[in-house]
Amino acid sequence: MIRVAVIGAKGRMGSSVVQAVNAADDMTLSHTIDHEQDLAQIDSGNTDIAVEFTVPTSSLGNVLTLVGQGVDVVVGTTGWDESKLEQVRHALAEAPRDGQAVFIAPNFAISAVLADHFAAQAARYFESVEVLEMHHPDKVDAPSGTAVHTAQAIAAARREAGLGPMPDGTLSDGGSRGQVIDGVHVHAVRLRGLNAHEEILLGNAGEQLVIRADSFDRGSFMQGVLLAVRALVSGGYPGLNVGLDTFLSL
Ligand code: NAP
Repeated sequence: MIRVAVIGAKGRMGSSVVQAVNAADDMTLSHTIDHEQDLAQIDSGNTDIAVEFTVPTSSLGNVLTLVGQGVDVVVGTTGWDESKLEQVRHALAEAPRDGQAVFIAPNFAISAVLADHFAAQAARYFESVEVLEMHHPDKVDAPSGTAVHTAQAIAAARREAGLGPMPDGTLSDGGSRGQVIDGVHVHAVRLRGLNAHEEILLGNAGEQLVIRADSFDRGSFMQGVLLAVRALVSGGYPGLNVGLDTFLSL
């Protein structure tokens, strides 16, 4: 049995992870930790891996503490930048066990990660591409980090294929043409009843391809979380890895 500690266990994501671990035949909960509870009780003697879904201001500190205590970590909390990632690499280089691992995924939904990948594959074949992301109205950032990543991947694929700017005769957009990221228009809809949805529209003269990913609820992230837990425990991913595509053989 894989012994899993959940950090942020009372939160929306953390409580879903607790349920997913309880439902998995090959996993057992070692600790459930929430705000102001001590991570010191978690070590490599009682825990194989920790899953961390807290808040951006706490996540780095939690990860560094756990790595220092010999525990591998799967992280879903957002807000990572290069300087934080560098601190994790440094901690791993000095970790007490050989081959220790940290995995960070900005998005654990397999459908979203695949949509991103397929959009980048398709982008070179189309004259026009636009990204539409649609979320519940409580989301604090717009456009979503996933949509930004999708736009950047599309732009990179277009550059590699030698494609120029997309056709757009708009003279004055009045703010309705979305945010332009690397030359790709990204539109954000906020609507009660939605959860997390992304559409990539790719157009040529006379044809359109639509790639769409829908996360209907937090269950959509759990397959990715458990995939990461099993992959890290297998020992195949030492050091720091970022992005669920690490495990998807794409
Ligand atoms: P949430 O419901 O606010 O849960 C966060 C939990 O972490 C709360 O129970 C909070 O406790 C606890 N917490 C705060 N600081 C802590 C600390 N130092 N140690 C232990 N626990 C602490 O938020 P959520 O919706 O679950 O989201 C959590 C994170 O995951 C966010 O960054 C979100 O953007 C991200 N997320 C990622 C994905 C993905 O696919 N990667 C998907 C969805 C969400 P208190 O409330 O008492 O402070």
